[in-house]
Amino acid sequence: MVIVVNAKKKLIVLISIILSLLIFIFLFFLLKSDFKLTLNGKKNMVININSVYEEPNVDACYGNIFKCKKVDVRIKGVVNTNKEGNYKIEYIATYNKKSKKISRMVQVRDIEKPNLILEQNEFSICLNNKVKNYNVKATDNVDGDLTSQIKTEVKNDKLIFKVKDSAGNEQIKKVDYKKEDKEPPIITLNEGSLVYVKLNDKYVDKGFTTEDFCDGDLTSQTQVSGEVNTQKEGKYEIKYQVKDSSGNETKVIKNVFVYADLITVNPPNKTIYLTFDDGPGEYTAELLDVLKKYNVKATFFVTNQYPAYENMITRAYNEGHAIGLHTYTHNYAYIYSSVENYLADLNNISQKVKKLTGGYESKLVRFPGGGSNTISKKYKIGIMSELAQELKIRGYKYFDWNVLSGDAGETKDTNQIINNVTSSLKNNYSIVLQHDVKSYSVKAVEEIIKFGKNNGYNFLPLDLTSPDYHHRINN
Ligand code: ZN
Repeated sequence: MVIVVNAKKKLIVLISIILSLLIFIFLFFLLKSDFKLTLNGKKNMVININSVYEEPNVDACYGNIFKCKKVDVRIKGVVNTNKEGNYKIEYIATYNKKSKKISRMVQVRDIEKPNLILEQNEFSICLNNKVKNYNVKATDNVDGDLTSQIKTEVKNDKLIFKVKDSAGNEQIKKVDYKKEDKEPPIITLNEGSLVYVKLNDKYVDKGFTTEDFCDGDLTSQTQVSGEVNTQKEGKYEIKYQVKDSSGNETKVIKNVFVYADLITVNPPNKTIYLTFDDGPGEYTAELLDVLKKYNVKATFFVTNQYPAYENMITRAYNEGHAIGLHTYTHNYAYIYSSVENYLADLNNISQKVKKLTGGYESKLVRFPGGGSNTISKKYKIGIMSELAQELKIRGYKYFDWNVLSGDAGETKDTNQIINNVTSSLKNNYSIVLQHDVKSYSVKAVEEIIKFGKNNGYNFLPLDLTSPDYHHRINN
């Protein structure tokens, strides 16, 4: 019995000792001083590229659960938000020569979807589901303009636009659409709509192409009618006609002049010939946009001074403008020092126009400085008279001007140019001189056209039958 009691007591004592020890250890850790570091925000952060990284920081103190003293923290590491990557940030707390650190990972990524901007409200598609031209743009925070990457799809009665940036973020927009085709085919005549053939020469049609947005190539379905009798002087019409599968019709007429000698046909009263020298250049595209907007055809006396823009010759020609020759180099000292130099230079620009237009041989000319320039005699006395004669023999026709815009040096003011032109328009015809290499002059064109249209003028491109307008040669 005694032995049993003794054993019980021993057990109680043992348990008491163990419990006391545990309480002691517990209190020791509870009261022990140490750093307490708590990250504000996530340990792994993902932020968008080019955004601002705002440091969330840490809460740091030194002490125990009853009392913890705030301590200073040093931050090590930088986040370059302009460059994708993983950036490690370290937080080092120090107190009484002791320190402790924790860290966080900041990932800079492109996590932003591109923007799809629908610049129209109504969309339509072809009867064969081909998606029509639409005005939708895409921009991205990293890749910039992604408009050319937009993909379209027709699904479940919706037209879907999709675009992905280089990081794989995808933007999708769905719109309603109508199924219809109101766009007529486009017939492009390879040699333009105005052709001159010398009496008894052979005339060969240089061909055409017909393109329809919905139906594709309709060249072989296009009907051609009309004949040219090159044995007889006169104006002949060739008609090109086509209908697409939705019944949209296009008719184009080509005028072929058969001539023995160049004839001049008086234009209707109040005709304006807008002419642009020295280009094509930086502002030619802008000018062509304005001319297109008002369906005005003009004349470009072109050079090779800004070859980077030479494709504007192709565009101007295809859009129905007259292309004339203003020499290749526009270098007075070279072209006016001999007839041979001038003709060689003229031939260079003529070949270039021929190449860029698919075979058009321009016979329209404007002399640099005009027929009455007084610079040429510095290089060769009498050369302008010689050149005028040489051009005539070769079937060229040169044009001066009777309305000065003043953009050749007199003014750089767009309003002044508008005023110069509109205040000197003639009752019969006006040949206006401007330069499409001058931004302030190109900017005047829209107002000049508006003025002309509001006041009963009509606009024509120059051709070989246009009035032979020359200044008096002065050499
Ligand atoms: Zn010029």
